[in-house]
Amino acid sequence: MSCLGLLQPFPPLESVGFGVFWTVMGLFVGSFLNVCIHRFPVEGASVWSPSRSHCPACDRQLGWRENLPVLSWVLQRGRCKGCAAPIHWRYPLVELIGAAGFFIAWRAAAADGWSFLLLDSVVLAALIVATFVDFERYEIPDQVSIGGMWAAPVVSFLLPALHGSGLVAGALAPDGTVDGVASLAECLAGMAAGGGVLYGLGWIGKRASGADAMGFGDVKLMAAGGGLLGVEGTFFALQVAVFTGSLIGILNILRWYLVVRARQRRRPLSSRGSSQALRTARVLGRYLPFGPYLALGIGIVLLDWKDVLDLLPFGLG
Ligand SMILES: [Zn+2]
Repeated sequence: MSCLGLLQPFPPLESVGFGVFWTVMGLFVGSFLNVCIHRFPVEGASVWSPSRSHCPACDRQLGWRENLPVLSWVLQRGRCKGCAAPIHWRYPLVELIGAAGFFIAWRAAAADGWSFLLLDSVVLAALIVATFVDFERYEIPDQVSIGGMWAAPVVSFLLPALHGSGLVAGALAPDGTVDGVASLAECLAGMAAGGGVLYGLGWIGKRASGADAMGFGDVKLMAAGGGLLGVEGTFFALQVAVFTGSLIGILNILRWYLVVRARQRRRPLSSRGSSQALRTARVLGRYLPFGPYLALGIGIVLLDWKDVLDLLPFGLG
């Protein structure tokens, strides 16, 4: 075996063996994401201490056998071993999604080497946290959004290949080799585009409806995402977010409409017809977090998921 072989303790990144290893890593990272989802929104809470997890019902410290991602939950049939309190299915779900995220990142980035594999995996993990916190609390944790706004310029400067085909970076590098400074410029332009568009949409929405249409957490998340995607990528990510968000929004109002109609039928005396039901459904279905759809758009563009990007109506070809 040559000296170079000794320097490579892992099988090649693109091998199936490494892919399996990376996916299992994602399962354990998913366990950590559960901690982040739980503790990020709590003022002053740290994800590092207490380092051992406890059962929230009986406060018993959990042994390693109870901390195995997904497996413990299945073996314990979704209950605490000590007090039999139910453990929410969200825990194994986040662990499975963490594994799926790492697997997808591996498929997309293994050929580009360690830096891109790590970047894509970490960003997907952060987007999973933002998605679950936003669904539960209608807010995006600053650790993800502001953290991302600090990380994006640093990563862009250190890894110019990230913006190798960016519009701004390309204009600053006429000979085709994007350096750290050109990459940083693309990042800042992307941040301004992502944050600026959402801030503008929120401003218009507030003018039009009088209510806050866009949370500032969404603006910060898209600014961070824009810094990683560049100007053109930001434009694609926003399209994905608007289309999926609108579709889910319409389905949500339809769901409330059916619920209200069913209730009206059960109490015929108070029945006030379908237009009243539609009005109620629109009010009830109004509050939907937008962060998960932004996260979806950022993830798809970051991984350069061509099959999806080709579906966008305003593609640049
Ligand atoms: Zn317990």
